[in-house]
Amino acid sequence: MSKILFAASEAHPLIKTGGLADVSGSLPAALKRLRQAVRLVIPAYPQAKQRAGDLKPVGSIRLPGSTQVMTVLEGRMPGSGVIVWLLDYPPAFGREGNPYVGPDGRDWPDNAERFALFCRGVVAIAQDRAGLDWRADVVHCNDWQTGLVPALLSLETVRPATVFTIHNLSYQGIFPAETFVRLGLPHELWHYRGLEFFNHLSFIKGGLVYADRLSTVSPTYAREIQTPEFGYGLDGLLRHRAEALRGILNGIDLQEWDPAHDPHIPCHYDAEHLTAKRGNKRALQEELGLPASDQLLLGSVGRLVEQKGVDLVIACIDRLLELPLQLAVVGSGDPAFEQALQEAAERHPHKMSLRLGYDEGLAHRVEAGADAFLMPSRFEPCGLNQLYSLRYGTPPIVHAVGGLADTVVDASPEALKEKRATGFCFYYASPEVLFHSVERALALYEKPALWEQLARTGMAQVFDWRSSARQYLQLYEEAQAAARQTGAGLAHPPA
Ligand code: ADP
Repeated sequence: MSKILFAASEAHPLIKTGGLADVSGSLPAALKRLRQAVRLVIPAYPQAKQRAGDLKPVGSIRLPGSTQVMTVLEGRMPGSGVIVWLLDYPPAFGREGNPYVGPDGRDWPDNAERFALFCRGVVAIAQDRAGLDWRADVVHCNDWQTGLVPALLSLETVRPATVFTIHNLSYQGIFPAETFVRLGLPHELWHYRGLEFFNHLSFIKGGLVYADRLSTVSPTYAREIQTPEFGYGLDGLLRHRAEALRGILNGIDLQEWDPAHDPHIPCHYDAEHLTAKRGNKRALQEELGLPASDQLLLGSVGRLVEQKGVDLVIACIDRLLELPLQLAVVGSGDPAFEQALQEAAERHPHKMSLRLGYDEGLAHRVEAGADAFLMPSRFEPCGLNQLYSLRYGTPPIVHAVGGLADTVVDASPEALKEKRATGFCFYYASPEVLFHSVERALALYEKPALWEQLARTGMAQVFDWRSSARQYLQLYEEAQAAARQTGAGLAHPPA
């Protein structure tokens, strides 16, 4: 049994902006079921404090250059019972709303300070300096907000092993060089094989350079990020560390995402009772103000940003809506994309519905009520929505990159014949190719027996956290072996 400290900037159901929160909610729970002593640590945002319920102060952390202390509040994750430590420091985290951006939609101006403080708090806990009488064997860090943790730990004489998981390489936590000085970071960390990135401070490099082991959330994305096309300037470093890098697919939380029990949907169903899915379609059409038509209902849920290929949809939306289908979009993001979609919905009120904003329940109802799910991401580290779609018998139409390529089997004639097909893949991100894939889906939708087979094959796929958690345990062991070998000081001294 290892003592694992799982550090992240969001965790469902306490606070969520995207897939990272799903992972931080589920993976520690799966590790707990494998009898590991896992603790989750996140910042004490007001919403997280409120949703965590009973919290008690159990420790405190002195911060360099501040008279105030950071308090460690202990609670239990709703559902899983995993012990969660919320790092309470109101000047940094006591703000309502989104963890990363203010009400104006821009990053909080002090994000570097906020997440550097979070990292210092995580280091203090890992090193048993928070009065918790607990020392980590492994610290599992996630995305740039936790990137300074492996860097700071690398300077300690005795330290736990560190693992850093990339959930999305395009978010790196890059700040002007002065920030490095302002944050009072140790000067040894400032070099191009350290935290410096083209004369800027890069939080994510703290993880990529100094963690004992690296992972990302699908095998294909693990390969893609080592290429200039997907590497965002870090492909060289990632190639250098290829031996330490693994791709481990995310699972889905079957307590939350199971059409047989989902409390958010009106009609429960499983692969043997697929006809009951129709009730969800009717209810969704009614909820969204779409006519009760039998045409293919295409759903889409997610952040409305370029990564998700929203611009590809917008570029062909009028042509798409001339096809015999309806389109239901739920999401929020780039104001220009929101506006373009809004205008399209106004032009085609009987064919398209748009709900701007974040609505967990509606996301479930779209997965259950739609016939097919559109996910044309330009890049996709793992993607969860296509996994939910498969589980809900709603074949996904995807751009075959990253986790989408690893989880969806294209409905080619051979794959259909061999009963392996689960969705529709396209291999080049353009509006024409996307449009053609939707046409392919429509053609198969005309053949109900084949369509049902496609949906059922998808529903039979297993993406459970248990097998992913086992792979992480293996990675923790490798990280511990590497940390023992490296000993004290820099985890990976500059070559
Ligand atoms: P990413 O993490 O890049 O945003 P993922 O597919 O990995 O994409 O995970 C997105 C998660 O966030 C899913 O659980 C999805 O249902 C949820 N989600 C995204 N946007 C919305 C929204 N507007 N309303 C409800 N849920 C959303």
